[in-house]
Amino acid sequence: MSLDSLLKNFSIVLSHPRIPENIGAAARAACNMGIGGLIVVAPEDPNPERMLKMATHTAAHFIREMEVYPDLKEALANFSYIVGTSARSGRGRRLVLSPREVAPILIQKAVQNKIALVFGPEDKGLSNAEISLCHQIVKIPTAEFSSLNLAQAVMIVCYEVFLADFKPQKKDTPRLADSQELELMYDKVKKTLIKISFIQPDNPDHWMMNIRRFCSRIGLSKNEVNLIMGVCRQIEWYGKSCAQNKRKTRAAKKNDKQPRGKNKNE
Ligand code: SAH
Repeated sequence: MSLDSLLKNFSIVLSHPRIPENIGAAARAACNMGIGGLIVVAPEDPNPERMLKMATHTAAHFIREMEVYPDLKEALANFSYIVGTSARSGRGRRLVLSPREVAPILIQKAVQNKIALVFGPEDKGLSNAEISLCHQIVKIPTAEFSSLNLAQAVMIVCYEVFLADFKPQKKDTPRLADSQELELMYDKVKKTLIKISFIQPDNPDHWMMNIRRFCSRIGLSKNEVNLIMGVCRQIEWYGKSCAQNKRKTRAAKKNDKQPRGKNKNE
């Protein structure tokens, strides 16, 4: 597979961008570096003229063809590897890599997977809930002032991916489950773990963080997701049948204890 076609498996995803010029400049950066496409989530001011001015004529098709979604979860549904970017370090005690460290890993995964490079809004960055959707967090190293302009951050990450050394492997990297499949699995795991009282129902998402982190680190295939879904269904079925058996035993004991009424025919 050529580097050009691998780069087409990457998309830039801008979550809640506030300034249309930044969307235009991000489109230009993506086009410069041969990235596949641009996705925007709930832009504050979707003004095409202001975007196009920064995108320039050559990258205008990125703006014309860009997909727009109301929320990040929906935007990421078809991606199977998601990279969140943040100017802050130590997000949820997760391993944070630099673009240079992550780029060779990503280019390898791009053989089989669609990869989303996710960037947050100019003022607040990505929320914790948005970060929890990501397999990997990336921070661009800087001097003390760590917050870059959104489009400049997009450019640096795309540049490192563009330069990454692709070494074709004898054995293909596996195709991972996509975000929609993973989120359905997390939902099922959460419900099952609440039912068996493994996690607290008052703040289940907090308890799920460790499970999400662990699964992101491994990178689950679709078959593995199906396996975990099957285990959860079996646990739920077993719990239900145990409860039914208990009810039956209790009812039988109650019947045994009750004094037998006189039979009419006696
Ligand atoms: N104040 C915000 C910064 C927002 S800058 C914060 O603390 O996160 C807008 C976006 O640009 C960020 O959400 C991130 O996606 C990207 N960005 C800016 N600086 C970055 C850095 N040093 N490393 C990685 N991404 C960065």
